[in-house]
Amino acid sequence: MINLILFGPPGSGKGTQAAKLVEKYGLLHISTGDLFRYEMGNDTPLGLEAKSYIEKGELVPDSVTVGMLRNKVEANPDVEGYIFDGFPRTIPQAEALDRLLAEKNDAVSKLIMLDVADNELVKRLLVRGKTSGRKDDSDESIIRNRIEVYKSETSPVFDYYAAKGQAVKVDGIGSIDEIFSRLCAEIDPLQS
Ligand code: AMP
Repeated sequence: MINLILFGPPGSGKGTQAAKLVEKYGLLHISTGDLFRYEMGNDTPLGLEAKSYIEKGELVPDSVTVGMLRNKVEANPDVEGYIFDGFPRTIPQAEALDRLLAEKNDAVSKLIMLDVADNELVKRLLVRGKTSGRKDDSDESIIRNRIEVYKSETSPVFDYYAAKGQAVKVDGIGSIDEIFSRLCAEIDPLQS
């Protein structure tokens, strides 16, 4: 199993690269943002709860997020591995993921962070907002809040896995194919 955490600030290209990685490595892509948007689109109780946080650019509470993630993993046990995109975003989420994988006698293989400067993130998200229909991509103050939340609550997750020797940074500036090659150079050695 390869259990990859694709990490980085909002707008760093995680979703774009995850789609390409799924094709190459046959892993299951789990994006908690996509799962929340699916629930919101269906007006489920979970979606309605998540919406109030997402539209402000804040994090959905850990208990809600972890429960949803666990359901998705448990519904798909027979896969070659997972790409976690946008999860974990807090230390308690990272600890919950480690516990969940340990229950399956498994573990995180690597966390790869896409490194992109703030101004570039804001630029990319505003462009994406024109077509994504996402409210949280259309307002610069919400975008900046998401970046601040990333710095204060999410970036410690990098240090958590770095302390175990499992985290690497990859330059997230360049063409989609260039960045993909950098990611593959980190993932290929994990294949046995
Ligand atoms: P994303 O699509 O990853 O940019 O996520 C969009 C929004 O969904 C975030 O700004 C959060 O409000 C929420 N969200 C997604 N993943 C998580 C998570 N792991 N923990 C808490 N909130 C999340």
